[in-house]
Amino acid sequence: MNRVFISLGSNLGNRISNIEKAYTEIEAKIGRIELKSSFYKTPPWGFQSEEEFVNSLIRVETGFELKELLAHLKTIEQELGRKKKGAKLGYQDRLIDLDIIDYDNLVYSSDLITVPHERMHLRNFVIFPLHEIAPNWIHPKLNKTVETLKKPMLNDPSIVKIEHLSD
Ligand code: ADP
Ligand code: MG
Repeated sequence: MNRVFISLGSNLGNRISNIEKAYTEIEAKIGRIELKSSFYKTPPWGFQSEEEFVNSLIRVETGFELKELLAHLKTIEQELGRKKKGAKLGYQDRLIDLDIIDYDNLVYSSDLITVPHERMHLRNFVIFPLHEIAPNWIHPKLNKTVETLKKPMLNDPSIVKIEHLSD
């Protein structure tokens, strides 16, 4: 079995419900969710939009190898109604985005997939929930703890933990 961290994000429709539907699909198709972070609210990253994101991060145990896992996540994104990205559009609003943050501490990169996720250490919406559920995790390429990766972001006001689901 492989232990993987998956980041979930949504900035359209009922964002928490979109993430919860993705949890259900992940448990049905990919494997058991062992740990779940809280939900976090963050502004859009890398593109302009009015719509705030809700993000979370989970740890899943799966028998799938990396590329199979990516393919299954893409299928779930499509089933949950995500439109394919236009070549020139870049980042955009989405019902659900599922990213592989870490795959059993593997360091690997190809055209299709990079693990750990290339930009994960720069993204507060990955680092905060990761710190919440796996404070001792060490980035296998950068050799830094999630605690260290979080330090430059500590006073970042642009990420807010959702304490009550009506927020
Ligand atoms: P983003 O998540 O960066 O907003 P997309 O979800 O559209 O954008 O992903 C674009 C492509 O990134 C995917 O089709 C996938 O092949 C590739 N990719 C590379 N590394 C990863 C990863 N660790 N997890 C998920 N997708 C990845
Ligand atoms: Mg993605």
